Amino acid sequence: MSITILGAGPIGLALAYEFAQRGEEVTVISTSRNTGKAGEVNAGWIVPIMASPVPAPGMVKKSLGWLIKSDGPLSISPVPAPDHLSFMTKMLRNTSKTRFERGLHALSEFGRGALEYFDTYKSEGVDFELHKTGVLMAFKSEKELESHYAEFENSEQYGLKKVLRMTGSEMREIEPGLSNSVKAGLNCSDQYSISPASLLVGLRDSCNKLGVTFFDTSDEIYLKDNVDKSAEVTFGAMKIPSDHVVIAAGVESRGLMNQVGFDMPLKFGKGYSLDFHGETRVTHAVYLSEAKVAVNPTNNFLRLAGTMEFGGNPLKINPTRVNGIAQASTEFFSFPLPENREVGMGLRPMTPDGMPVIGKVPGTSRVYVATGHAMLGVTHAPATAKLLAGLILSGTESEHLINFSPTRF
Ligand SMILES: Cc1cc2nc3c(=O)[nH]c(=O)nc-3n(C[C@H](O)[C@H](O)[C@H](O)COP(=O)(O)OP(=O)(O)OC[C@H]3O[C@@H](n4cnc5c(N)ncnc54)[C@H](O)[C@@H]3O)c2cc1C
Repeated sequence: MSITILGAGPIGLALAYEFAQRGEEVTVISTSRNTGKAGEVNAGWIVPIMASPVPAPGMVKKSLGWLIKSDGPLSISPVPAPDHLSFMTKMLRNTSKTRFERGLHALSEFGRGALEYFDTYKSEGVDFELHKTGVLMAFKSEKELESHYAEFENSEQYGLKKVLRMTGSEMREIEPGLSNSVKAGLNCSDQYSISPASLLVGLRDSCNKLGVTFFDTSDEIYLKDNVDKSAEVTFGAMKIPSDHVVIAAGVESRGLMNQVGFDMPLKFGKGYSLDFHGETRVTHAVYLSEAKVAVNPTNNFLRLAGTMEFGGNPLKINPTRVNGIAQASTEFFSFPLPENREVGMGLRPMTPDGMPVIGKVPGTSRVYVATGHAMLGVTHAPATAKLLAGLILSGTESEHLINFSPTRF
């Protein structure tokens, strides 16, 4: 069977690898233009334990505090575009306790086995930088820790280790660089972290060995569903027919779905990465909880990643928010980070209920979609690939496909 995948981020590459391993003829087409790809700038955490959907109870109250800070971790564009307003309203509706708990359970179930999938990649020879030193969540107050603990209480139910509460001193024993401002913490000791770019390179290399064909183009990419015959992708002078096409183009997936007559709410949630090359004083992945900043020490640089910006100019980097991320670190660490840093920007594909969209594109016969992974696109990439490969190649239905159906909005 021939499968064309649109997108070469973590989702597109995991799909290509899965289909190629199952012996299918795979082509991957991606744009070389700057579309705010999130695949390289993410924090690189493999964290099935962080399954909370973005819309959460209490989010509105918390958000109001963040929104008035120009360097805070959240921004929502005040521009009253109807599409933007309707998305934010839908998101608001999903902050109810019932919907949040349903989403938390669905994402926790989907994350079952996520760590093992990355072990399997390694054992199969996918070459990428993987660390198994866990994730520490640092809090500046017990009260803040308490407001989050319930999300992690049931970790064992989903095959993960129990999350351990720690005092500030216990946190510093594990990560001596943490400052005295850290009063409490959670130790998610079984979670993984990777160097994001290394996973993309590793998967691509493995795909190449399995015979996958890659095209990176700056031409406009067009998609057509020729119902009985094939699905067809064209760009420049190229025309590629195949049995099935999977749209896995991150936040750009919406435009591609529109080309085959389907629309759904998918918006970007912009985030930034700050890389400090040669910085080796932090040795564990740490979440700076009040600041909502993820810290990842890779072999070559220390990465700080954070902020969630809804609306506005997608590709513009806001220096105030970038500085806000750096500033947050000064409160959590006992040493200042160097001035010199490399800044990156990426757009998380967001849905109003904080869950991905995986399945057949309604109204088409040969086009599928896998996007909307929000803050967990790396973590859930292998599971997404397995789910969709099962559906396309064997017609395997599953509870996940119902939860993540493109028709649910
Ligand atoms: C700051 C930040 C921190 C994050 N931290 C984490 C984390 O620690 N752990 C985690 O699991 N997730 C994290 N994420 C989320 C994760 O990065 C995303 O969910 C993930 O990258 C989504 O993968 P994707 O392949 O769908 O999209 P992307 O990674 O955005 O890739 C999109 C791909 O589609 C291609 N494309 C675009 N337009 C077209 C088109 N028209 N036709 C064909 N191809 C096209 C692009 O070239 C690219 O190859 C983070 C995100 C950000 C921004």
